[in-house]
Amino acid sequence: MARKHWLAAALVAAAWVSNAGAQRAPASPRIYVLENGSISGLDPALFNFKREELAHVDFVNIAYLIVHPRGTLMFDAGAVPDSHFKGDGTPVVEGVVTATKPLLPQLAAAGYAPSDITSFALSHFHSDHTGNANAFAGATWIVQKAERDYMFADSPQGIIQPATYAALRNAKTKILNDEDFDVFGDGSVVVMSTPGHTPGHQVVAVKLAKRGTVVLAGDLYHYPEERTTGRTPTFEFAAEQSKVSRARIEKFVEDSGAQLWIEHDVATHAALPKAPQYVD
Ligand SMILES: [Zn+2]
Repeated sequence: MARKHWLAAALVAAAWVSNAGAQRAPASPRIYVLENGSISGLDPALFNFKREELAHVDFVNIAYLIVHPRGTLMFDAGAVPDSHFKGDGTPVVEGVVTATKPLLPQLAAAGYAPSDITSFALSHFHSDHTGNANAFAGATWIVQKAERDYMFADSPQGIIQPATYAALRNAKTKILNDEDFDVFGDGSVVVMSTPGHTPGHQVVAVKLAKRGTVVLAGDLYHYPEERTTGRTPTFEFAAEQSKVSRARIEKFVEDSGAQLWIEHDVATHAALPKAPQYVD
C-alpha cells in the first residue's frame, strides 16, 4: 500500500515535469508577474478618496504564475480574454480597461502552457480578474464555497462576466469553507481566506528563498493609501468583513516580515521584473 502510494506520487511528479517541457521544476518557488494592461478613468470617489490624496489614480491589471517544485498555481486570469485581441498588436480597449498583451503568450514565454497549470485560484470573481479563467479549467480550482455559490447563482450580480469563467463549473474543485489551503503541502504557497471585497475573496502567501515571504493581496486593497487610512471602497460586499480580513493579513505581514503586493498598484509592479523573468 505504501509502495503504491509512493509510486503514484512519483508518476504524478514525473508527468508534471515532462508536461513542463523545457522547464524543469525549480528547487524553490518562483513568481512570474504577467501584465494585463491598465484601468484608467475611474473616479477615486468610488474608493472614498479624492484625487489629490492618491500617488497613482490609475490601476495596473496583473496575474501571477507561481511555480513550485511540485506543481504550478495560476493566481487570477487578467481583465481581457485573449480571444478579444486582434493579433495585429493593437491594444484592446473595453470601457475603462486597456490591454496591450494577451496572457497565454506571456505564460508561453516563461515556458508554460495552460495544460502545465496544476492549480488555479482567483482572488475573486470581478471581471478584471477572470478574463482568461476558462483556459485553466483543466487545473484544480481552489475556491471558497461562498464565492463559488455567488459565481454560479441563477442571476449573478455586480462586476461579473460569467462567460469568462463558465468552464470552471465542471473543473476539479477544491472547495474551502472560509479557510486557508496549503497548496503544495509544505507551507510555502498558502491560499488565505480574506472575505469582504467579495463573499470569498482570497490572497496567496508565497515563501521565496531569496526575497522572503510575499503576499499576493488581490483586491484586499486597491490603493496603498487604503492601508494607511483604513478606508474601504464604496462597493465592498461586506466592508466590516474586509476590515477583519485586512487586520488578519496585516498581522501576518508583521509577524512574517512579508512584502504585500496590491494587485492593482502601479508602483509595486513597476518595480518588479515581468515574465519571462521571475522573482524567487
Ligand atoms: Zn480588481
